Order: sequence, then structure tokens, then C-alpha cells
Amino acid sequence: ESFHDVDMGEIIMSNITLTRYTRPTPVQKYAIPIIKTKRDLMACAQTGSGKTAAFLLPVLSQIYTDGPGEALQYPISLVLAPTRELALQIYDEARKFSYRSRVRPCVVYGGADIGQQIRDLERGCHLLVATPGRLVDMMERGKIGLDYCKYLVLDEADRMLDMGFEPQIRRIVEQDTMPPKGARQTMMFSATFPKEIQILARDFLEEYIFLAV
Ligand code: AMP
Repeated sequence: ESFHDVDMGEIIMSNITLTRYTRPTPVQKYAIPIIKTKRDLMACAQTGSGKTAAFLLPVLSQIYTDGPGEALQYPISLVLAPTRELALQIYDEARKFSYRSRVRPCVVYGGADIGQQIRDLERGCHLLVATPGRLVDMMERGKIGLDYCKYLVLDEADRMLDMGFEPQIRRIVEQDTMPPKGARQTMMFSATFPKEIQILARDFLEEYIFLAV
């Protein structure tokens, strides 16, 4: 088993080498080929399983294949995460995998200066990592458009619900300008799969593949 089993393009491959990841973890081994076939995915995976790279690698690879285009205030990909710490970890990993490429990741989260985050977004963004509350705030200020969001990831979905973010998540995913399911690819990651997550999966995902590792 190696990352070379799936073709993710030269940039991704050389950046994987730079991160010194030698072998895919189980969630990477199974999720990457599924995401590459453009299917929606519900994956049950724990923290520490390597789930971040499991969605970032195929999503970034697809952004490169599509041609990222000029960085605008309309991200092609959105990753929702429950906390500032997790959002920053995902952003750091996204920066490693987009090193020496035209893809520009950004991160926004609550509890920090919104003006600085807005100025950063104004420089353009292909992949946005966000906590739900701060993203709703940005949307209400008209600082971000999700019209071109083709790849949507909900990371640690069970934790986001535990923290009371369901209304914000629904506002983001169900707004008129977000491409509807079927027109976007949606990936949900969760450590557990209780009723509330099953309902979210039913509402947000289209004929999805269920993966438990
Ligand atoms: P995650 O579950 O995505 O938070 O990842 C947990 C930790 O494992 C992070 O520090 C990653 O940098 C690291 N990691 C992820 N994938 C691999 C891999 N294939 N080989 C070695 N380390 C990895």
C-alpha cells in the first residue's frame, strides 16, 4: 500500500513526500479512492486516524485537475470544523499539501479579529476552513460567497452538533447560493453515527457511501 496507488497528480505527490507520510492510514486507504470517484461519503473515523489528509488530498487533487483559476472570494471547497484548534490544524495541513501550487487555503474562526480574516479572504481563497458561527457572520456581512462551492466537508460532525452548531450548519449548507446536493460533492466525517448524524447525512448527502474504519 502506498499513496501512489491512486493518481493524485505531481504537486500532491511531491508534497506528500515533503510531509514524510510514507503509507496511507486505513481511513486514507479507503476514503481517498471513494472521494476520487466523486461519490458522497459518510465516514466514521476517530481523531488521530489521519482523516484530515483523507479528505484534503483527494479534494486538492480534484481542484488541481479542474484548474484552480484565479483566487476569488468564492471558495471552491469548504471545510467546516467545530473548533478553532481543529480548523487551524486542517489549515496547516492544507498549506502543506498546496505548497508550490496556485491553490490558496484560508481559515476563519471565532474569537479572533474578524477584520484581519476579511482582509485575508479578500486576497482570494480556493479552500476555506471555517468554524460555523464565524462563517455565518462572514456570510451576513457579504464577505464570502459559496456559489462555486463544489466540495463540502463536515469534519467532526458529531462534535459540531454537540456544540450546538446545527442551526449555523443548516444556514450554511441550505442557503440558496450553495450548490444543492448532487451539484456538489459532500463528505461527512464523524467519530459516532447517532440518529442526529444519520438525519444530517440524509439531508446533506446524495446516494452516499458509508465507511467505518
Ligand atoms: P488527523 O487524524 O487527521 O488529525 O491526523 C493525526 C496525525 O497523524 C496528524 O499529526 C497527521 O499529521 C498524522 N498523519 C496523517 N496521515 C499520516 C500518514 N499517512 N503517515 C504518517 N502520519 C500521518
